Amino acid sequence: MRVLIAAPRGFCAGVDRAIQIVELALERFGAPVFVRHEIVHNRFVVERLKSMGAVFVDELDEVPDDRPVVFSAHGVPKSVPAAAQDRGLAYVDATCPLVSKVHRQAQRLIEEGRHILFIGHAGHPEVIGTFGQVPAGSMTLVETVDDAQAVDVPTPANLAFLTQTTLSVDDTAAIVRALRLRFPAILVPRSEDICYATSNRQAAVKSIAPRCDKMLVIGAPNSSNSLRLAEVAEREGVPAKLIQRAIDIDWDWLGQPRILGLTAGASAPEVLVREVVDALGQRFEIVEEIAEHEPEGMVFKLPRELVA
Ligand code: SF4
Repeated sequence: MRVLIAAPRGFCAGVDRAIQIVELALERFGAPVFVRHEIVHNRFVVERLKSMGAVFVDELDEVPDDRPVVFSAHGVPKSVPAAAQDRGLAYVDATCPLVSKVHRQAQRLIEEGRHILFIGHAGHPEVIGTFGQVPAGSMTLVETVDDAQAVDVPTPANLAFLTQTTLSVDDTAAIVRALRLRFPAILVPRSEDICYATSNRQAAVKSIAPRCDKMLVIGAPNSSNSLRLAEVAEREGVPAKLIQRAIDIDWDWLGQPRILGLTAGASAPEVLVREVVDALGQRFEIVEEIAEHEPEGMVFKLPRELVA
């Protein structure tokens, strides 16, 4: 069996930074360091950090007054750092700088008096965080083309749209087309909100899909960008399954494809790719091939309070 490994895949700069922030906070403050929500959507990463002394909580009131807290890469509503400040908690914000950029755009648009249509998935922490940057009622969620065609807006002549960073590039383009058709004056963001990592990983799946008979995507079921990778493969006509680890491989479903595509979402570490390749190697005679790609070379600065 040929295993064709997509590239780029796996960790993005925002995930890498968020994990380093927790590790550095543990070094700086000692254990336990509290983390509000999964730092990134990957159980393996979360378990490793737990073993180092990180404690994951759902809400700030579970954090003792004398311990530091880290906010996850997905971003938090403004009310969260404000509440931490009120309590005098030491906190470090691991929000990905590309999510923070969307937060700033949202605030600027509201200051300009616009109503925002936000393209994203209801309930995702990034969406909750971005809605929490602006006054209630000043932003409306649009999840589908149907939503775009039906959404009721207070000021049709004074609209803008923004998007979640981890969406399907193709679905978002269709929603944007529907919005622009209905609201020709809608303000388009100066630059794409879907992040480089999401777009590059989807493009990598598209580029190998024509050669693949099946595809495995390593990622968590609550990881938006990983789910999108499986969707992209399926839309290219390649049966695809999302798995968290090698143990999740459904061998009956897999059968013995001639060429198996393999990729990993932005929150899945490379060690899990190796684990899956090893598991495949134990069952089949495999030949590995890594798809050619341009290196991404994106690195985000760490918060000053942890590196000073
Ligand atoms: S997927 Fe994109 S927005 Fe999310 S953490 Fe990675 S780089 Fe940042």
